[in-house]
Amino acid sequence: MTTPTIIGLAGGIGSGKSTITKYFNNIGIQSVDADDVARLVVQLGSTCLDQIHQRYGDSILLDDGNLNRKSLRSIIFDNPEERSWLEGLTHPAIRKEISVQLSSITSPYALLVHPLLFETNQDAICDLVIAIDVPESIQLQRVMSRDNISRENAGKIMATQLSNSERIKRADLVLENSGNIDEMNAKVFKLHKKILESQSC
Ligand code: ADP
Repeated sequence: MTTPTIIGLAGGIGSGKSTITKYFNNIGIQSVDADDVARLVVQLGSTCLDQIHQRYGDSILLDDGNLNRKSLRSIIFDNPEERSWLEGLTHPAIRKEISVQLSSITSPYALLVHPLLFETNQDAICDLVIAIDVPESIQLQRVMSRDNISRENAGKIMATQLSNSERIKRADLVLENSGNIDEMNAKVFKLHKKILESQSC
C-alpha cells in the first residue's frame, strides 16, 4: 500500500474545515474526512455497529436498524468508562479506514481533514499539519448559525477539543480564517503553491 504525502488539516468545530476542504478539492487536491469515516465505520452491517448493538441493546438502533447517534451520545456524555469502551472499538477501525482511503489518493498530496487530529494522535501519520486559526468568538458564532444551536451547546462541544492556541503550537503551518471566503480561498491557494513548490525541491 503506497501512501501519498499527507497533509493534516486540523481545526475545531466551525473553524472552516469543510469550507476550506471544498476549495482544496476544487483545485484538484483529494481529501479524506475523518468525520465521514467515523460515520462509515458504524454504518448498517458494520462490525462496530454489531458490537454497539450487543452492548446497549435494541434501544441504540433506530427503526431502520441504523445507529441512534443521539442515544449513543447520551450514554457516553457523562460516562468516561463507556466513552473509552466506544473509542477502543471505533478508533482503530477509523484509523484503518483512513489509511485505506488515503492510499487510493492520486493527487500531488492528500489532505486528512480531522477535528481531533492531535487528540487522536493522527498527526503521527501526517508529513505536515496545518492548523486553522479562528478566534473563538467567530467560531462560536459560525457554529451557532450553521447548526442552529445555543451558545452553551456550541461551547460544550468546543470544550472537548483542543483550544486554537494549543493546536497552533503543535502544527507546522497556520491558516487564519477570520476573514471572508474570498480571503480564505486566496490564502489556501497560496499555501497550496507553497506545498507544491516544497515537493518539487
Ligand atoms: P467545520 O467543517 O470546521 O465544522 P465549516 O467549514 O462547516 O466548519 O464552517 C462553519 C460555518 O462557517 C459554515 O456555515 C461556513 O459556511 C462558515 N464559514 C467558514 N469559513 C468562513 C469564512 N471565511 N467566512 C464566512 N463564513 C465562513
